[in-house]
Amino acid sequence: MNLTIHRGTHEIGGSCVEIDSGGYRVILDMGMPLVNSYGSRFDSKACGKMSGIELVKAGVLPDIRGLYSWDKGKRIDALFISHAHMDHYGLMSYVRGDIHCYLGEATEKLISISNIFTGNEVSTSSTVYFKNGDHVNIGPFKITPFLMDHSAFDAYAFMVEAEGKKLVYSGDFREHGRKPGTLNRFLSGVGVGADILLMEGTNIGNSKRAQKSEVSVQKELESAIGGTGKIVFVVQSSQNIDRLVSVFKAAKNQGRNLVIDFYTANVLNILSRYANLPNTLNGFEEIRVFYPRGLSTMIADKGRKDLLYSVKNRRIKREEIAQNPSKYVMLVRPSMWREFPRLGDIEGTTVIYSMWSGYLNDLSMRSFLHEIKKRKMNMISIHTSGHADIETLKALVNKMRPKNIIPIHTFKPECFPSLFSNVVSVLDGVEILI
Ligand SMILES: [Zn+2]
Repeated sequence: MNLTIHRGTHEIGGSCVEIDSGGYRVILDMGMPLVNSYGSRFDSKACGKMSGIELVKAGVLPDIRGLYSWDKGKRIDALFISHAHMDHYGLMSYVRGDIHCYLGEATEKLISISNIFTGNEVSTSSTVYFKNGDHVNIGPFKITPFLMDHSAFDAYAFMVEAEGKKLVYSGDFREHGRKPGTLNRFLSGVGVGADILLMEGTNIGNSKRAQKSEVSVQKELESAIGGTGKIVFVVQSSQNIDRLVSVFKAAKNQGRNLVIDFYTANVLNILSRYANLPNTLNGFEEIRVFYPRGLSTMIADKGRKDLLYSVKNRRIKREEIAQNPSKYVMLVRPSMWREFPRLGDIEGTTVIYSMWSGYLNDLSMRSFLHEIKKRKMNMISIHTSGHADIETLKALVNKMRPKNIIPIHTFKPECFPSLFSNVVSVLDGVEILI
């Protein structure tokens, strides 16, 4: 079995791994880079203006023969997507239509709704759903997905077996979220002594601190909400479901209703088919749905009024919020600063920033931060990482006892050997024999 990490040995984002055996080839993840070759934010919009062939030449698309729609050579046998974060699936539109793309059913639903609301338009023509713990046979490969705890819903690690060897790809994971039992189920599924562990190291070299649990985040949110008699705004990703649950519970425990926009409401309704989540279909009367003007127009113009109507039974208007603001915790996105003047007296209110701090540098965030300052609103940060802390990585390695560890999804692969023995350093695009 041969392994090539096309991207990810020295960076976070753009993960892409190829595994070959007996003439069969499988790709794990087809991610959009997060950084460019200078280390600054990758411009995915500019990439939409280039052809696929130009993107291969520019090094954005990994140079993999038989993978792309313009390549008629012997095709790749399968693509597996670990989860619905762009840095793991964002380039899959370039993949040939006759290559099956294996992914979780909820992952596909998340990608589809992202396409509608963000305009990313990432898709493949041939998808096959895998199930947690059920292996898939592709030629000599036996590939088993294991559900992991991560800030993306429906995230998986993969165990790949062939030629009597075992390779484990951790994907993105943590243990401090709302699915902590998944790590032990994964460990008993893969057993001990894997030949190779490709292990994510997002938090390696960042901070030695243990990440706080999602339950601690909920408690902090609760005390921040309880400490004010005014409306509380929360800035967070509509697809970070663990965090949505934390915000919902914190608001509810403080006797408040949670106001979410219709995008977030649709995400929760779709995913409540797969897990017991707060949603607007069955009960959860504490959820109210807000229609931001710009987003509503954009979705109506796309001919998707169904997404506006599907949650309108819970609609809350601006006037209703303005009449009794202390009754609500409201999710806001940066573009919604235009709504502030119509929500009543919001001077001195609390804005809880509940995302990765790096997004504060984004252009879209600047007007929002300016408006917050202008209106004398107080911003505080309550957040925890979607990725494992060092203690969790060490515990994983101690239990799995892999023969070799290869760093992936990290900016600091050089820090791995000080934490783990048997680390193998590899470079992007270099094939190694397992
Ligand atoms: Zn991720």
